[in-house]
Amino acid sequence: SVKVGLAQMLRGGVIMDVVNAEQARVAEEAGACAVMALERVPADIRAQGGVARMSDPQLIKEIKQAVTIPVMAKARIGHFVEAQILEAIGIDYVDESEVLTPADEDNHINKHNFRIPFVCGCRNLGEALRRIREGAAMIRTKGEAGTGNVIEAVRHVRSVMGDIRVLRNMDDDEVFTFAKKIAAPYDLVMQTKQLGRLPVVQFAAGGVATPADAALMMQLGCDGVFVGSGVFKSGDPVRRARAIVQAVTHYSDPDVLAEVSCGLGEAMVGINLNDDKVERYANRSE
Ligand code: PLP
Repeated sequence: SVKVGLAQMLRGGVIMDVVNAEQARVAEEAGACAVMALERVPADIRAQGGVARMSDPQLIKEIKQAVTIPVMAKARIGHFVEAQILEAIGIDYVDESEVLTPADEDNHINKHNFRIPFVCGCRNLGEALRRIREGAAMIRTKGEAGTGNVIEAVRHVRSVMGDIRVLRNMDDDEVFTFAKKIAAPYDLVMQTKQLGRLPVVQFAAGGVATPADAALMMQLGCDGVFVGSGVFKSGDPVRRARAIVQAVTHYSDPDVLAEVSCGLGEAMVGINLNDDKVERYANRSE
């Protein structure tokens, strides 16, 4: 479809969270393929607490005017009116995001009702295919946003890729039961088996903070990377933004990765996920 094609144009790129027009210009200058316009990066949402909602459309419009690359914005899970508003102001993609406080515990947005492409998060193959059945044009693994800790992103990417490898080696007769087991539509499971990958672009997200983290996601098989708090919560956002874009472009070249990793200053302060008090956004309302 047209929406899936629009998402495919982002392949090989880095999508950066930005909270104002100046940051958006830094991201564009660094080579980001798109920006995510929002009021608070996930690290600040964690620090400040409260209900996190769609950002002020005025702020999103200002960011849209500041750059030529595509602009994404977040709607709460299940909040189809926030998505309608984002479509009305002419942004390029909606992220139905667990980083905002979910609006509906049972239902995600019916994304077939929109012309604008949606990206949705997942922790595993079943969740990815359920979102695609609802009309998602792009998938990102959830990881743990705002932690600067890549462990959950690695878990989710390995889970999706591992399930796809298992599926590829299956006999066609076994696909019916596998689809039931992962609670995903049979036709999309079969299509994934035949393609050897998800039928839409798959980015990584949630805890990517360094060029090495970004290249790790690419070497694990992702099509691109979201960087939320990692750039603008670091000591030198301009250099780090460029370095992460270079790392995603040259993800399999350790010499380039070594070069771009040098002298970046402080990375964002991370959060240790062994602490029980840290809320897991990826597991919200389950
Ligand atoms: N992710 C989040 C953040 C949720 O709040 C929910 C459920 O409401 C889900 C995922 C569940 O989605 P699924 O339909 O994949 O079980």
